[in-house]
Amino acid sequence: MQYAPSITVSIAEAFGMEPGEDLNGVLNTALRQMGFNFVFDTTFSADLTIMEEASELIHRVTNGGKLPMFTSCCPGWVKYAEEFAPDMLGNLSTCKSPQQMLGAVIKSHFAEQSNLKPEEIVSVSIMPCTAKKFEAERETMSRNGVPDVDIVLTTRELIQMIKLYGIDLKNIEPEIADSPLGIRSSAGKIFGATGGVMEAAIRTAYKMITGEELKDFRVCAVRGFDGRKEAKIKITDDLEIGVAVVSGLANAAALIEEIRNGRNDIHFIEVMTCPGGCIAGGGQIIGASESFVAARMKSLYDIDERETIKVSHKNPEIIELYEKFLGKPLGHKSHDLLHTTYKERDVLL
Ligand code: SF4
Repeated sequence: MQYAPSITVSIAEAFGMEPGEDLNGVLNTALRQMGFNFVFDTTFSADLTIMEEASELIHRVTNGGKLPMFTSCCPGWVKYAEEFAPDMLGNLSTCKSPQQMLGAVIKSHFAEQSNLKPEEIVSVSIMPCTAKKFEAERETMSRNGVPDVDIVLTTRELIQMIKLYGIDLKNIEPEIADSPLGIRSSAGKIFGATGGVMEAAIRTAYKMITGEELKDFRVCAVRGFDGRKEAKIKITDDLEIGVAVVSGLANAAALIEEIRNGRNDIHFIEVMTCPGGCIAGGGQIIGASESFVAARMKSLYDIDERETIKVSHKNPEIIELYEKFLGKPLGHKSHDLLHTTYKERDVLL
């Protein structure tokens, strides 16, 4: 089992608790009580996505690659691009989403470590998103006929399951996720809000290029609910990166049109289909008020403020995964397991 970064801050109101309350610990316990043998955190692979995506951005910027680069972790956006903006497919990052990266690592590295065959594992994810069900079924999201992820549940389905099992979240002891593949940075956690992927990527790209950490880890220009946010990030005296964050596909379409018309001052663009990002995803509780969604966003940034590992590249289990298994970002194994391709699709009306 794996659960997305936004899940732990999106279920509290369904159980009579304060909207936005982070239920990470008791969610781990509840999932084990339901019978899942291993409980992993998709935020771990959000960190992995950042390692690969920041490396890809740097590679494109320094080697004359196709720019601007778009994020690829939102399957609603990816399918939109395949249908309505196929001229931009070369601009999409080739990184799989965190759901698919963790699925691929579970059925390769984890399977090897556990003396299991990939086909002996049933890999389940809990996502804020109905489009993630489609993503898991894409033909490029399996190896040798074995899918990276077998079953995708939404937040709503998780809530139904917890209620069906009669688990009282208010009266169970919190537990930690399984390790490895369970430790995370808070940079990965903010993936759940619009702008979070961008902020996490900037933190790690800055370190990869300069060798130093950002003095202030907060990139406030990309936070908040605005449908479009833009910023210029000074990396070195010679390198300034233009970034944009859009949520809602109408905002993405408008920006794409500007790029087609010659706009070239943006290097990196985050796109989320759902306005506000995954905290307001299509698999979340229906009818959540704006204040509830805002409480989820606040909770993610509060976690970022109070936790000590604030950058993906300092996640000790990510460091270990590269040392023991993957080698290096964009290396041979990463290419095989963590990256994907896209194809133009007919629009079905
Ligand atoms: Fe899914 Fe919406 Fe998040 Fe995209 S923004 S991954 S469509 S929940």
